[in-house]
Amino acid sequence: MSISLSTAASLYDRVRRVIPPIEWPAFSDDIDAILALKRERNAVILAHNYQTPEIFHCVADIVGDSLALARKAMTVDAQVIVLAGVHFMAETAKLLNPGKTVLIPDLGAGCSLADSITAADVRLMRQRYPGVPVVTYVNTSAAVKAESDICCTSGNALAIVESLGTPRVIMLPDEYLARNIATQTKVEIIAWKGHCEVHERFTPADIRELREAHPGVTVLAHPECPPEVVAEADFAGSTAAMSDYVGRHKPARVVLMTECSMSDNVAIEHPEVDFVRPCNLCPHMKRITLANIRAALEENRHVVTIDPDVADRARRAVERMLAV
Ligand code: SF4
Repeated sequence: MSISLSTAASLYDRVRRVIPPIEWPAFSDDIDAILALKRERNAVILAHNYQTPEIFHCVADIVGDSLALARKAMTVDAQVIVLAGVHFMAETAKLLNPGKTVLIPDLGAGCSLADSITAADVRLMRQRYPGVPVVTYVNTSAAVKAESDICCTSGNALAIVESLGTPRVIMLPDEYLARNIATQTKVEIIAWKGHCEVHERFTPADIRELREAHPGVTVLAHPECPPEVVAEADFAGSTAAMSDYVGRHKPARVVLMTECSMSDNVAIEHPEVDFVRPCNLCPHMKRITLANIRAALEENRHVVTIDPDVADRARRAVERMLAV
């Protein structure tokens, strides 16, 4: 089955500001096929904010940051979920939808933060700090979540830390997120040494250069950036919070200190705002393409599985977060 010409035209209308006409024919065939496959297989596509615009705006059913995807994954009425994002996100979707088939189009779509820590590391932290609760960022494997008391995202980390009512918490694995949250709370935060390879590359000097080159620019930073970068920014927040900020404040010119595709996706929603785009790509997010989403649906690959005992314990940590 193929989508009608008018649907294809309206899809291109949506992305024409960020995809040149010459590139569109390279996408339209896969988009047609994916839209048809979704109907045939009763499938939905969940896409993270860092996915490219032809995925985010043309084939995704649910879009957002990690928290939004985790929440909305629980409400989908479909047999198959394709996660256009990285592996830990697909695992989280599977945790919350154990009866559904969850597919990740490329098994190599990992994450430097998720890879920075193992379940054994978490057990060692517990031995070192007995009785201190463990808050784990969702950018971790199911095995690491299973060793944790509760999960958090960059959007809710402060609320989660303060919900525990303890003077100290262990917050894993993002050192910069932990240090950024520590500036906002009296709770003592014990951090790990994990970093996001995309956000750790931004520097305060980058921001100063941007302000010089683009006077009056509003700078928004993701809390996975080093604290010195966050301190130089006008606002820090999760991808959802940055997107909300642009919608509410409508700055004349803005720069998002985060992954490149995020600016493209938000720019489409706000044509009146001028986006300056310093580009730090996430190589893991960019492994997901229309071609491998299509192949995932055609060939039912790669099915995400989690050991049942690990899944039960990891699910509890995610559900505790969702209840806060
Ligand atoms: S942007 Fe950073 S945190 Fe997100 S998937 Fe890529 S490496 Fe991991």
